[in-house]
Parts: sequence; C-alpha cells; structure tokens
Amino acid sequence: MPILVTGGAGYIGSHTVLYLKEKNEEVIVLDNLQKGHKKALFADKFYEGNLSDSKLLDTIFFNHSIDAVIHFAANSLVGESVEKPLDYYENNVLGTFHLVKKMAEHQVQYLVFSSTAATYGDPVNLPINENDPTIPTNPYGETKLAIERMLKWCEGAYGLKSICLRYFNAAGADPDGRIGEDHTPETHLIPIVLQVALGQREKVAIFGDDYPTADGTCIRDYIHVMDLAQAHYLALKRLREGHESNVYNLGNGTGFSVKEVIETCRNITGHPIPAETSPRRAGDPAVLIASSEKARDELGWVPDYPLLEQMVEHAWKWHHQHPSGFKG
Ligand code: UDP
Repeated sequence: MPILVTGGAGYIGSHTVLYLKEKNEEVIVLDNLQKGHKKALFADKFYEGNLSDSKLLDTIFFNHSIDAVIHFAANSLVGESVEKPLDYYENNVLGTFHLVKKMAEHQVQYLVFSSTAATYGDPVNLPINENDPTIPTNPYGETKLAIERMLKWCEGAYGLKSICLRYFNAAGADPDGRIGEDHTPETHLIPIVLQVALGQREKVAIFGDDYPTADGTCIRDYIHVMDLAQAHYLALKRLREGHESNVYNLGNGTGFSVKEVIETCRNITGHPIPAETSPRRAGDPAVLIASSEKARDELGWVPDYPLLEQMVEHAWKWHHQHPSGFKG
C-alpha cells in the first residue's frame, strides 16, 4: 500500500523517500516547498500544500489507499524556536493535529513520527535512553514532545499506532551524491564548516567554548541521514507487522565536540577552516549522546555509516559537486 511522506522534499524526508523507493515502496509526498526542494523529490506522486489544508488531505486520502504516514513536515531549528515559539506551536503541534485528525477520519492506521533528542533537554544520564526524563530546554523539543504525548492518547481513542523516532544530529548525504543537505539560511554545523572549505564563508563560529566538556565545546551524537532513512523503513515495517506503538532513539552512541567535527572536516577537505569562539547559542545542552540499544534490538537497526568520517565524506561529495545546493 502507498505511504504518505509529509515533508518529503526536505533533508531527512527526501533521503527517506529515496530509501523507500529503493525498497520498492509506493510513495506519495506532501510538502509545501517552503524549505524543501522540488529537485530532491523521488516520489511517485507529489502534492504541494500545507498540513492545515484539510481539503487537500481529503483528496490525498481519497485518491490513494494509504495505510501509513511518515511525518517529517515541521520547523526544526533550536535557535529559531527560542525566538519564535508560536511559529513552532503552529507549524509543529497544530500542523500535526490537522494531519492526525484526517488520518483518524480516513482510518489510516500507522504513523512514523520524526521526533528529536531535544525532547530530553539536559540529560540526567549518558548515554540517554528512552525512559529518561523529558524536560526540553527549547520550544522545538517542547513541541515535538507535545506531539508524542498527543499520539499516545490517539492510540486508545482512534486505534492509531505510532512510532516516534528521536533523532540525534542528522548528517551526511546520499552516498551516490544524488541529493544532500540544502537549507537557506544554513544553521547546521557540518554544512557551515564545509561552506568555509568551499570558500563561501570566511570562518566558522564556535558557539561557546566554556561548556563542561573536555575541550569546552558542545558534544553531539551524529547519525548518517541514510541510517535515519533505514530506521523509518524498519519502524514502518514493525507497525505493519502488528507491533505496539513505541519510541526509539536514533544515534551512534558516540559523541563528538564542535572542535572535533571541525578537525574531521579539515582532514577530509584538506582546507585549514578557520574557526573562532563566539557566545553560546540559546537552548543548547552541553552533551547529547544516544543509547540506541532499543532500536537495534527491536527494529533490527544496524547503521551502515556509523563513522563521522563517512558522514563528512558524503556531505563533502554533495557540497563539492553542488556548491549552490539544488540551485546548481
Ligand atoms: N554549532 C556551532 N557553530 C555553528 C553551528 C552549530 O558551534 O555555526 C554548534 C551548536 O551550538 C551545537 C552543534 O554545533 O552544539 C550542532 O549544532 P547543529 O545546529 O548542527 O545541530 P543541533 O544540535 O542544533 O540539532
């Protein structure tokens, strides 16, 4: 049966669509193209529009016998969410509300939801596991957690089964170089560092070097975007096999500091990549590292590209060949 992917023209969404197509799934994409790219689309059928467009959702669910939705469409920037929390409540919480309401009306059974490590806030244990406290330190994480909780209640009431995937830091690109990361403006560390290597920026700003970590910079658990795609496919398979709703972390269980990421990019690009310390960014916890044992045990998830070098190599291949992203 066809799968609806919302946000399927965005970074993680488009790589997941590519992965699903390689597994011979039929894929319908809904994306408003505000941040997504038409050139990143590998779907069988594309609908341009918003989650709040109930007529469009009716059309999609009437036209296709969809049994499952993979839901990426959302705002996803920590810093921006602190400045514009209401945009995040509107686009993330309300947007998902509209989608889930239509799913219930049309009796669509399964949802794989793009959640985040930001649901945990400052971790009490490292690595973080799924039962740890969830106390977000920014509106982005808060809105994703609100949706997770909403989905829990929808299961009992409407029989909607869901898997929430809490990703740590998505990185890399399609190893074959067909698609990659292209945000305007770019805010994520690895693409920014690679833009310095391409000569598009003079230097990279390190947001804070006074964190309680070995080199003072924030530590994150980077995960290859194709490994995230694989996990979405496995989550959907698990729901279709009749398993219960659940929540899974997705990370490699290894943390890298901002300085270590910059050094890896220097090694791979051969560029000196100047960096300078600047103030902390609001809402950033010092360390985020995942325990993904549960996803490995229950979903059978085994990352194909667990090394930071592989993520940077694939990202570099994409950025080097497409210095203007999808515009090139
Ligand atoms: N970061 C940085 N300089 C930048 C962009 C990001 O020092 O220009 C840091 C950021 O503070 C965080 C880490 O790099 O500690 C990863 O940030 P990113 O925005 O890539 O992902 P996030 O952790 O927000 O999901």
